[in-house]
Amino acid sequence: MDEFTSDIIKSEHGGGGEIMETMIKSLYVKGFSLNKIAGGLGLSDMDDSGSIPFCEGQIVFTTDSHTVTPLFFPGGDIGRLSVSGTINDISVMGAKPLALSSGVILPEGFPTEQFRKVIRSMDETLKEAGVPLITGDTKVAGNDLFINTSGVGYTKNLLSDKGLKEGDLIIVSGTVGDHGAAMLSVREDIPFLSNIKSDVAPLNKMIEKILPHQIHAMKDPTRGGIANALNEFSKKSGVRIDIKEELVPVRDEVSAICDILGLNFMEIACEGKVLVSVSKEDSETVLDIIRKERLGKNAAIIGEVKKGEKVLLETLIGGKRILEPPVADPVPRVC
Ligand code: MG
Repeated sequence: MDEFTSDIIKSEHGGGGEIMETMIKSLYVKGFSLNKIAGGLGLSDMDDSGSIPFCEGQIVFTTDSHTVTPLFFPGGDIGRLSVSGTINDISVMGAKPLALSSGVILPEGFPTEQFRKVIRSMDETLKEAGVPLITGDTKVAGNDLFINTSGVGYTKNLLSDKGLKEGDLIIVSGTVGDHGAAMLSVREDIPFLSNIKSDVAPLNKMIEKILPHQIHAMKDPTRGGIANALNEFSKKSGVRIDIKEELVPVRDEVSAICDILGLNFMEIACEGKVLVSVSKEDSETVLDIIRKERLGKNAAIIGEVKKGEKVLLETLIGGKRILEPPVADPVPRVC
């Protein structure tokens, strides 16, 4: 493992991808001596949640801090994002989210009306997901609004990033890169691309419907997009994943903004999509279930799990190349 050698923390150390992973592994994970409960997932597993064995199943526990800029963006805002991110991190473990907490840090001088708007948005998203917020904290400090959300869930069948099996097919629940592209369209002020909206949404109700089937792993591709999430799957499960670029759903506007800015749409963040590794025999059934959902109508099978390592991409022109994990998310502060 690479050692973290930087004298100071830079913005790219929070930007997803390999640089952040090195910082987290060598500084953060190694810094906590007690970081796992026997029989559960701990900090060093670096999964979407940790877990605690309880009764015949596992309590799933996760936390996420949200620092997005701007606070209000096409398709969502920091409130919807902070609720959805935590609900999705619990749901991809195969767990039912039970309750959330929120810790809010408000800057001095922040308009009350905007804070009301953020709270309303959190409330609407929680109602959409059917999950209560049962504890919280507020502080006034700093220069920007930050929201941390934590959440607890429960499952009798815990899924993890190590669960992919040779022969599985990979489903993505819809178009990729929408969230990061929406942030870019606002920040770069590209008028003809101003109709791109973030996909930010809680996925628990959709995920609950596919759980009875042979799902082996799930992940929400946020910072670093599907390129990052697929590489985490491959590395942790010790498998190769073959992806066909032509099968990956992407909106024309997202593809266009990536072309203009020289970015790979597979590295751009989603906030309302899930990657599912499912047994071949159940793949069509699971795809049908997802496609019937409002949030999953553009779902597609995009690849297959094979013996080996790395993520192999068959490009649009038929060539093959390794799809590397991004060094850092090309768009900073997206979540
Ligand atoms: Mg996640």
